[in-house]
Amino acid sequence: MSYQTEDYPDRVEFLSFDDRPLRRRIDSVDTYSAGILERALEGLRPSVEEGAHLVTLRGNALSALVAAADRIRRDDVGDVVTYVVNRNVNWTNICFVGCKFCAFAHLKTSELAYDHPIDSVLARIREGIERGATEVCMQGGINPEMDSDGYFELLRAVRGAFPKLHIHAYSPMEVYYGARRSAMDYPEYIRELKACGLDTMPGTAAEILDDGVREILSHKKLDTATWVRIIRAAHAEGVPTTSTMMYGHLETPMHIARHIDLLRSIQLDTGGFTEFVPLRFIWQETKLFAEGLVTPIPQGQLDLAVYATSRLMLRGLIDNLQTSWVKLGHELASLSLAAGCNDIGGTLMEESISREAGADAGEYTSAEELQAMIQRMRRVPRQRNTLYGSIDEDDGPPSGRAGSGALAHGRPAVATASVH
Ligand code: SF4
Repeated sequence: MSYQTEDYPDRVEFLSFDDRPLRRRIDSVDTYSAGILERALEGLRPSVEEGAHLVTLRGNALSALVAAADRIRRDDVGDVVTYVVNRNVNWTNICFVGCKFCAFAHLKTSELAYDHPIDSVLARIREGIERGATEVCMQGGINPEMDSDGYFELLRAVRGAFPKLHIHAYSPMEVYYGARRSAMDYPEYIRELKACGLDTMPGTAAEILDDGVREILSHKKLDTATWVRIIRAAHAEGVPTTSTMMYGHLETPMHIARHIDLLRSIQLDTGGFTEFVPLRFIWQETKLFAEGLVTPIPQGQLDLAVYATSRLMLRGLIDNLQTSWVKLGHELASLSLAAGCNDIGGTLMEESISREAGADAGEYTSAEELQAMIQRMRRVPRQRNTLYGSIDEDDGPPSGRAGSGALAHGRPAVATASVH
Protein backbone atom coordinates (compact mmCIF):
# COMPACT_ATOMS: atom_id res chain seq x y z
CA MET A 1 0.00 0.00 0.00
CA SER A 2 1.58 3.25 -0.99
CA TYR A 3 -0.58 5.69 0.93
CA GLN A 4 0.82 7.41 3.96
CA THR A 5 -0.50 6.34 7.33
CA GLU A 6 -3.32 8.52 8.57
CA ASP A 7 -3.59 8.42 12.31
CA TYR A 8 -5.20 11.77 12.94
CA PRO A 9 -8.68 11.73 11.42
CA ASP A 10 -9.63 14.60 13.73
CA ARG A 11 -7.74 16.85 11.33
CA VAL A 12 -10.33 16.28 8.64
CA GLU A 13 -12.68 18.72 10.28
CA PHE A 14 -9.85 21.22 10.45
CA LEU A 15 -9.13 20.74 6.76
CA SER A 16 -12.75 21.28 5.76
CA PHE A 17 -13.18 24.36 7.93
CA ASP A 18 -9.68 25.84 7.56
CA ASP A 19 -10.46 29.50 6.91
CA ARG A 20 -6.96 30.64 5.94
CA PRO A 21 -7.09 32.34 2.53
CA LEU A 22 -6.39 30.13 -0.48
CA ARG A 23 -3.29 32.18 -1.34
CA ARG A 24 -1.73 31.60 2.06
CA ARG A 25 -2.46 27.90 1.91
CA ILE A 26 -0.85 27.51 -1.50
CA ASP A 27 2.15 29.62 -0.51
CA SER A 28 2.81 27.29 2.41
CA VAL A 29 3.31 24.13 0.33
CA ASP A 30 6.20 22.82 -1.78
CA THR A 31 6.74 24.36 -5.20
CA TYR A 32 5.76 21.23 -7.19
CA SER A 33 2.37 20.92 -5.46
CA ALA A 34 1.80 24.67 -5.55
CA GLY A 35 2.50 24.74 -9.30
CA ILE A 36 -0.13 22.06 -9.98
CA LEU A 37 -2.70 23.95 -7.93
CA GLU A 38 -1.89 27.31 -9.55
CA ARG A 39 -2.29 25.84 -13.02
CA ALA A 40 -5.54 24.09 -12.07
CA LEU A 41 -6.95 27.38 -10.82
CA GLU A 42 -6.09 28.89 -14.19
CA GLY A 43 -8.02 26.09 -15.94
CA LEU A 44 -5.27 23.60 -16.74
CA ARG A 45 -6.23 20.09 -15.70
CA PRO A 46 -3.49 18.13 -13.88
CA SER A 47 -1.71 15.38 -15.83
CA VAL A 48 -1.90 11.76 -14.68
CA GLU A 49 1.43 12.07 -12.84
CA GLU A 50 0.32 15.29 -11.18
CA GLY A 51 -3.02 13.75 -10.23
CA ALA A 52 -1.28 10.78 -8.62
CA HIS A 53 0.83 13.21 -6.62
CA LEU A 54 -2.22 15.15 -5.46
CA VAL A 55 -3.87 11.99 -4.12
CA THR A 56 -0.91 11.50 -1.74
CA LEU A 57 -1.11 14.98 -0.20
CA ARG A 58 -1.82 15.13 3.52
CA GLY A 59 -1.87 17.73 6.28
CA ASN A 60 -1.02 21.27 5.22
CA ALA A 61 -0.58 20.39 1.54
CA LEU A 62 -3.95 18.65 1.53
CA SER A 63 -5.48 21.78 3.01
CA ALA A 64 -4.23 23.73 -0.01
CA LEU A 65 -5.59 21.10 -2.42
CA VAL A 66 -8.98 21.12 -0.69
CA ALA A 67 -9.12 24.91 -0.86
CA ALA A 68 -8.25 24.92 -4.56
CA ALA A 69 -10.92 22.30 -5.29
CA ASP A 70 -13.44 24.29 -3.31
CA ARG A 71 -12.62 27.48 -5.23
CA ILE A 72 -12.90 25.68 -8.59
CA ARG A 73 -16.20 24.13 -7.54
CA ARG A 74 -17.54 27.54 -6.54
CA ASP A 75 -16.36 29.20 -9.77
CA ASP A 76 -17.63 26.41 -12.03
CA VAL A 77 -20.92 25.28 -10.48
CA GLY A 78 -21.69 27.68 -7.63
CA ASP A 79 -22.79 27.05 -4.08
CA VAL A 80 -25.81 24.86 -4.74
CA VAL A 81 -25.51 21.26 -3.57
CA THR A 82 -28.01 18.98 -5.26
CA TYR A 83 -29.63 15.74 -4.19
CA VAL A 84 -32.13 13.36 -5.77
CA VAL A 85 -35.06 11.66 -4.08
CA ASN A 86 -34.69 8.11 -5.30
CA ARG A 87 -35.51 4.53 -4.41
CA ASN A 88 -32.84 1.87 -4.69
CA VAL A 89 -34.01 -1.64 -5.45
CA ASN A 90 -31.44 -4.44 -5.30
CA TRP A 91 -33.93 -7.07 -6.41
CA THR A 92 -31.67 -10.11 -6.17
CA ASN A 93 -28.47 -10.84 -4.28
CA ILE A 94 -27.89 -14.13 -6.06
CA CYS A 95 -24.61 -13.86 -7.93
CA PHE A 96 -21.93 -16.24 -9.16
CA VAL A 97 -19.22 -13.69 -9.95
CA GLY A 98 -17.52 -13.73 -6.55
CA CYS A 99 -15.93 -10.27 -6.36
CA LYS A 100 -13.67 -10.20 -3.33
CA PHE A 101 -14.75 -6.71 -2.31
CA CYS A 102 -18.44 -7.62 -2.26
CA ALA A 103 -20.33 -8.87 0.77
CA PHE A 104 -23.72 -8.39 -0.87
CA ALA A 105 -23.79 -11.42 -3.13
CA HIS A 106 -24.83 -14.96 -2.17
CA LEU A 107 -25.01 -18.25 -4.00
CA LYS A 108 -28.51 -19.55 -4.63
CA THR A 109 -28.04 -22.23 -1.98
CA SER A 110 -27.40 -19.70 0.79
CA GLU A 111 -30.21 -19.14 3.27
CA LEU A 112 -29.53 -15.42 2.86
CA ALA A 113 -30.16 -15.48 -0.92
CA TYR A 114 -33.20 -13.67 -2.27
CA ASP A 115 -34.73 -13.00 -5.68
CA HIS A 116 -37.70 -10.68 -5.37
CA PRO A 117 -40.49 -11.31 -7.86
CA ILE A 118 -41.52 -8.45 -10.14
CA ASP A 119 -44.64 -7.67 -8.08
CA SER A 120 -42.51 -7.16 -5.03
CA VAL A 121 -40.16 -4.85 -6.97
CA LEU A 122 -43.14 -2.82 -8.16
CA ALA A 123 -44.47 -2.56 -4.60
CA ARG A 124 -41.11 -1.22 -3.41
CA ILE A 125 -41.04 1.35 -6.19
CA ARG A 126 -44.63 2.39 -5.48
CA GLU A 127 -43.68 2.95 -1.85
CA GLY A 128 -40.75 5.08 -3.00
CA ILE A 129 -42.94 7.20 -5.26
CA GLU A 130 -45.37 7.76 -2.39
CA ARG A 131 -42.41 9.15 -0.47
CA GLY A 132 -41.52 11.49 -3.32
CA ALA A 133 -39.05 9.47 -5.40
CA THR A 134 -38.50 10.72 -8.95
CA GLU A 135 -36.08 7.91 -9.80
CA VAL A 136 -35.68 4.20 -9.25
CA CYS A 137 -32.17 2.78 -9.29
CA MET A 138 -32.13 -0.96 -9.98
CA GLN A 139 -29.10 -3.19 -9.80
CA GLY A 140 -28.85 -6.81 -8.75
CA GLY A 141 -26.52 -9.77 -8.55
CA ILE A 142 -25.62 -11.72 -11.68
CA ASN A 143 -28.07 -14.56 -11.28
CA PRO A 144 -27.13 -17.58 -13.45
CA GLU A 145 -30.75 -18.71 -13.52
CA MET A 146 -32.18 -15.49 -14.88
CA ASP A 147 -34.16 -15.88 -18.10
CA SER A 148 -32.35 -14.51 -21.14
CA ASP A 149 -34.90 -11.69 -21.38
CA GLY A 150 -35.03 -11.14 -17.61
CA TYR A 151 -33.67 -7.59 -17.68
CA PHE A 152 -36.10 -6.64 -20.45
CA GLU A 153 -39.04 -8.13 -18.61
CA LEU A 154 -38.30 -6.23 -15.42
CA LEU A 155 -37.95 -2.95 -17.30
CA ARG A 156 -41.19 -3.46 -19.20
CA ALA A 157 -43.04 -4.12 -15.96
CA VAL A 158 -41.62 -1.04 -14.24
CA ARG A 159 -42.20 1.20 -17.24
CA GLY A 160 -45.73 -0.13 -17.66
CA ALA A 161 -46.60 0.53 -14.03
CA PHE A 162 -44.87 3.90 -13.72
CA PRO A 163 -44.85 5.71 -17.09
CA LYS A 164 -43.24 8.91 -15.76
CA LEU A 165 -40.64 7.48 -13.41
CA HIS A 166 -36.97 7.84 -14.33
CA ILE A 167 -35.47 4.36 -14.57
CA HIS A 168 -31.77 4.22 -13.81
CA ALA A 169 -30.67 0.64 -14.08
CA TYR A 170 -28.16 -2.06 -14.97
CA SER A 171 -24.44 -1.66 -14.57
CA PRO A 172 -22.05 -2.53 -17.41
CA MET A 173 -21.62 -5.93 -15.72
CA GLU A 174 -25.33 -6.61 -16.06
CA VAL A 175 -25.30 -5.41 -19.67
CA TYR A 176 -22.30 -7.63 -20.36
CA TYR A 177 -24.10 -10.64 -18.93
CA GLY A 178 -27.50 -9.83 -20.40
CA ALA A 179 -26.07 -9.29 -23.89
CA ARG A 180 -24.26 -12.63 -23.73
CA ARG A 181 -27.40 -14.43 -22.59
CA SER A 182 -29.40 -12.79 -25.38
CA ALA A 183 -26.74 -13.30 -28.05
CA MET A 184 -26.86 -9.60 -28.94
CA ASP A 185 -24.06 -7.11 -29.37
CA TYR A 186 -23.86 -4.23 -26.89
CA PRO A 187 -25.45 -1.50 -29.03
CA GLU A 188 -28.31 -3.82 -29.97
CA TYR A 189 -28.84 -4.90 -26.38
CA ILE A 190 -28.79 -1.34 -25.06
CA ARG A 191 -31.25 -0.25 -27.77
CA GLU A 192 -33.61 -2.96 -26.61
CA LEU A 193 -33.19 -1.96 -22.95
CA LYS A 194 -34.05 1.57 -23.98
CA ALA A 195 -37.10 0.42 -25.90
CA CYS A 196 -38.23 -1.39 -22.75
CA GLY A 197 -38.01 1.79 -20.68
CA LEU A 198 -34.40 2.36 -19.60
CA ASP A 199 -33.45 6.02 -19.17
CA THR A 200 -29.93 6.03 -17.78
CA MET A 201 -27.35 3.53 -16.51
CA PRO A 202 -25.10 3.45 -13.47
CA GLY A 203 -21.44 3.51 -14.41
CA THR A 204 -20.68 1.03 -11.67
CA ALA A 205 -18.67 -2.19 -12.03
CA ALA A 206 -15.78 0.17 -12.73
CA GLU A 207 -13.97 -0.37 -9.43
CA ILE A 208 -10.48 0.55 -10.66
CA LEU A 209 -10.14 0.44 -14.43
CA ASP A 210 -6.87 -1.46 -14.44
CA ASP A 211 -6.83 -5.13 -15.38
CA GLY A 212 -4.07 -6.02 -12.93
CA VAL A 213 -6.12 -4.68 -10.02
CA ARG A 214 -9.36 -6.13 -11.41
CA GLU A 215 -7.81 -9.59 -11.64
CA ILE A 216 -7.24 -9.56 -7.89
CA LEU A 217 -10.57 -7.94 -7.01
CA SER A 218 -12.65 -10.17 -9.26
CA HIS A 219 -11.17 -12.24 -12.05
CA LYS A 220 -14.61 -13.20 -13.44
CA LYS A 221 -15.71 -9.63 -13.94
CA LEU A 222 -15.68 -7.76 -17.23
CA ASP A 223 -12.30 -6.30 -18.07
CA THR A 224 -11.44 -2.63 -18.56
CA ALA A 225 -11.80 -2.65 -22.35
CA THR A 226 -15.26 -4.24 -22.13
CA TRP A 227 -16.39 -1.75 -19.49
CA VAL A 228 -15.29 1.07 -21.77
CA ARG A 229 -16.95 -0.53 -24.81
CA ILE A 230 -20.29 -0.85 -23.03
CA ILE A 231 -20.18 2.69 -21.65
CA ARG A 232 -19.32 4.11 -25.06
CA ALA A 233 -22.12 2.06 -26.63
CA ALA A 234 -24.60 3.41 -24.08
CA HIS A 235 -23.56 6.99 -24.77
CA ALA A 236 -23.75 6.41 -28.51
CA GLU A 237 -27.28 5.06 -28.10
CA GLY A 238 -28.35 8.18 -26.18
CA VAL A 239 -28.24 6.56 -22.72
CA PRO A 240 -26.27 8.74 -20.30
CA THR A 241 -24.39 7.02 -17.50
CA THR A 242 -22.78 7.99 -14.26
CA SER A 243 -19.12 7.26 -13.69
CA THR A 244 -17.72 5.75 -10.52
CA MET A 245 -14.50 4.56 -8.93
CA MET A 246 -13.95 2.35 -5.89
CA TYR A 247 -10.87 3.44 -3.93
CA GLY A 248 -9.19 2.64 -0.64
CA HIS A 249 -8.34 -1.03 -1.23
CA LEU A 250 -5.23 -2.26 -3.02
CA GLU A 251 -4.91 0.40 -5.70
CA THR A 252 -2.09 2.94 -5.81
CA PRO A 253 -2.43 6.72 -6.34
CA MET A 254 -1.35 6.16 -9.96
CA HIS A 255 -4.25 3.74 -10.50
CA ILE A 256 -6.64 6.42 -9.26
CA ALA A 257 -5.18 9.09 -11.54
CA ARG A 258 -5.20 6.79 -14.56
CA HIS A 259 -8.79 5.81 -13.85
CA ILE A 260 -9.89 9.45 -13.77
CA ASP A 261 -7.86 10.13 -16.89
CA LEU A 262 -9.63 7.31 -18.74
CA LEU A 263 -13.01 8.71 -17.72
CA ARG A 264 -12.12 12.16 -18.95
CA SER A 265 -10.90 10.80 -22.28
CA ILE A 266 -14.26 9.05 -22.77
CA GLN A 267 -16.11 12.19 -21.76
CA LEU A 268 -14.19 14.25 -24.27
CA ASP A 269 -15.50 11.96 -27.01
CA THR A 270 -19.06 11.26 -25.87
CA GLY A 271 -20.19 13.84 -23.29
CA GLY A 272 -22.33 11.05 -21.87
CA PHE A 273 -21.23 11.00 -18.23
CA THR A 274 -23.56 12.86 -15.96
CA GLU A 275 -21.43 12.80 -12.83
CA PHE A 276 -18.46 11.21 -11.11
CA VAL A 277 -18.94 9.32 -7.85
CA PRO A 278 -15.80 8.18 -6.00
CA LEU A 279 -16.87 5.33 -3.71
CA ARG A 280 -14.80 4.43 -0.66
CA PHE A 281 -14.19 0.68 -0.30
CA ILE A 282 -16.05 -0.74 2.71
CA TRP A 283 -13.77 -3.50 3.92
CA GLN A 284 -15.31 -5.02 7.04
CA GLU A 285 -17.17 -8.08 5.75
CA THR A 286 -15.22 -8.71 2.55
CA LYS A 287 -12.98 -11.54 1.37
CA LEU A 288 -10.31 -8.99 0.47
CA PHE A 289 -9.95 -8.19 4.15
CA ALA A 290 -10.47 -11.73 5.42
CA GLU A 291 -7.71 -12.99 3.12
CA GLY A 292 -5.32 -10.27 4.27
CA LEU A 293 -5.17 -8.60 0.85
CA VAL A 294 -5.99 -5.14 2.17
CA THR A 295 -5.04 -3.08 5.16
CA PRO A 296 -7.90 -0.77 6.09
CA ILE A 297 -7.09 2.89 5.52
CA PRO A 298 -8.66 5.25 8.07
CA GLN A 299 -11.40 7.43 6.73
CA GLY A 300 -10.68 11.09 6.31
CA GLN A 301 -7.70 12.50 4.52
CA LEU A 302 -7.62 9.99 1.67
CA ASP A 303 -11.29 10.71 0.95
CA LEU A 304 -10.78 14.46 0.80
CA ALA A 305 -7.70 14.01 -1.39
CA VAL A 306 -9.60 11.79 -3.86
CA TYR A 307 -12.55 14.17 -4.12
CA ALA A 308 -10.41 17.26 -4.49
CA THR A 309 -8.13 15.64 -7.07
CA SER A 310 -11.20 14.53 -9.03
CA ARG A 311 -12.54 18.09 -9.14
CA LEU A 312 -9.23 19.33 -10.56
CA MET A 313 -8.70 16.53 -13.07
CA LEU A 314 -12.26 16.58 -14.40
CA ARG A 315 -12.63 20.34 -14.55
CA GLY A 316 -14.85 21.40 -17.45
CA LEU A 317 -15.55 17.79 -18.41
CA ILE A 318 -17.55 16.24 -15.59
CA ASP A 319 -18.69 19.09 -13.39
CA ASN A 320 -20.97 17.09 -11.09
CA LEU A 321 -18.94 15.48 -8.33
CA GLN A 322 -20.97 13.39 -5.92
CA THR A 323 -20.05 12.46 -2.37
CA SER A 324 -21.44 9.27 -0.81
CA TRP A 325 -23.11 9.37 2.61
CA VAL A 326 -23.56 5.61 2.33
CA LYS A 327 -19.83 4.97 2.18
CA LEU A 328 -18.53 7.83 4.31
CA GLY A 329 -21.30 8.32 6.84
CA HIS A 330 -23.14 11.60 7.31
CA GLU A 331 -20.35 13.44 9.12
CA LEU A 332 -17.55 12.86 6.64
CA ALA A 333 -19.87 13.18 3.63
CA SER A 334 -20.81 16.65 4.87
CA LEU A 335 -17.17 17.62 5.34
CA SER A 336 -16.30 16.35 1.88
CA LEU A 337 -18.57 19.01 0.40
CA ALA A 338 -15.69 21.38 1.15
CA ALA A 339 -13.36 19.33 -1.05
CA GLY A 340 -14.98 20.00 -4.42
CA CYS A 341 -18.30 18.12 -4.25
CA ASN A 342 -21.54 19.69 -5.48
CA ASP A 343 -23.91 16.75 -5.09
CA ILE A 344 -24.78 14.61 -2.08
CA GLY A 345 -26.47 11.72 -3.88
CA GLY A 346 -29.87 10.28 -3.20
CA THR A 347 -32.18 9.31 -0.40
CA LEU A 348 -31.94 5.67 -1.61
CA MET A 349 -34.47 4.20 0.86
CA GLU A 350 -32.74 0.81 0.49
CA GLU A 351 -29.08 0.17 -0.13
CA SER A 352 -28.15 -3.37 0.73
CA ILE A 353 -24.76 -3.52 -0.93
CA SER A 354 -22.81 -1.24 1.36
CA ARG A 355 -24.69 -2.38 4.46
CA GLU A 356 -23.75 -6.01 3.83
CA ALA A 357 -20.11 -4.98 3.53
CA GLY A 358 -20.19 -3.24 6.90
CA ALA A 359 -21.17 0.37 6.23
CA ASP A 360 -23.25 1.77 9.04
CA ALA A 361 -24.82 4.92 7.59
CA GLY A 362 -28.18 3.22 7.16
CA GLU A 363 -30.31 2.68 4.11
CA TYR A 364 -32.23 5.90 4.00
CA THR A 365 -31.43 9.54 4.50
CA SER A 366 -34.44 11.79 4.25
CA ALA A 367 -34.44 14.87 2.04
CA GLU A 368 -34.62 16.97 5.23
CA GLU A 369 -31.48 15.31 6.64
CA LEU A 370 -29.62 15.84 3.36
CA GLN A 371 -30.66 19.49 3.37
CA ALA A 372 -29.37 19.89 6.95
CA MET A 373 -26.03 18.30 6.03
CA ILE A 374 -25.69 20.74 3.13
CA GLN A 375 -26.69 23.80 5.15
CA ARG A 376 -24.22 22.90 7.88
CA MET A 377 -21.51 23.45 5.26
CA ARG A 378 -23.01 26.87 4.45
CA ARG A 379 -24.22 25.71 1.05
CA VAL A 380 -27.57 25.83 -0.70
CA PRO A 381 -29.59 22.59 -1.00
CA ARG A 382 -31.65 21.91 -4.10
CA GLN A 383 -33.55 18.81 -5.15
CA ARG A 384 -32.76 17.77 -8.72
CA ASN A 385 -33.99 15.19 -11.16
CA THR A 386 -31.74 12.43 -12.38
CA LEU A 387 -30.32 14.55 -15.17
CA TYR A 388 -29.44 17.43 -12.85
CA GLY A 389 -32.38 19.50 -14.01
CA SER A 390 -35.29 20.88 -12.05
CA ILE A 391 -37.64 18.26 -10.60
CA ASP A 392 -40.40 19.83 -12.67
CA GLU A 393 -38.62 18.86 -15.86
CA ASP A 394 -39.58 15.57 -17.43
CA ASP A 395 -36.59 13.24 -17.42
CA GLY A 396 -38.62 10.07 -17.23
CA PRO A 397 -39.74 8.05 -20.22
CA PRO A 398 -37.17 7.75 -22.97
CA SER A 399 -39.48 8.64 -25.84
CA GLY A 400 -38.38 11.81 -27.56
CA ARG A 401 -35.36 12.17 -25.34
CA ALA A 402 -32.70 10.22 -27.13
CA GLY A 403 -29.55 12.16 -27.74
CA SER A 404 -30.73 15.14 -25.77
CA GLY A 405 -30.13 16.22 -22.20
CA ALA A 406 -26.91 14.85 -20.83
CA LEU A 407 -25.39 13.91 -24.09
CA ALA A 408 -26.18 17.10 -25.88
CA HIS A 409 -24.77 19.24 -23.09
CA GLY A 410 -21.86 17.10 -22.09
CA ARG A 411 -22.80 16.49 -18.48
CA PRO A 412 -26.01 15.57 -16.44
CA ALA A 413 -26.94 12.42 -14.52
CA VAL A 414 -27.76 10.07 -11.60
CA ALA A 415 -27.17 8.83 -8.14
CA THR A 416 -26.28 5.41 -6.99
CA ALA A 417 -24.19 4.24 -4.14
CA SER A 418 -24.10 0.66 -5.26
CA VAL A 419 -20.93 -1.12 -6.13
CA HIS A 420 -21.40 -3.80 -8.76
S1 SF4 B 1 -20.07 -6.75 -7.02
FE1 SF4 B 1 -21.80 -7.35 -8.34
S2 SF4 B 1 -20.91 -8.90 -9.74
FE2 SF4 B 1 -19.50 -8.73 -8.00
S3 SF4 B 1 -20.12 -10.35 -6.56
FE3 SF4 B 1 -21.16 -8.42 -5.92
S4 SF4 B 1 -23.14 -8.50 -6.94
FE4 SF4 B 1 -21.83 -10.00 -7.98
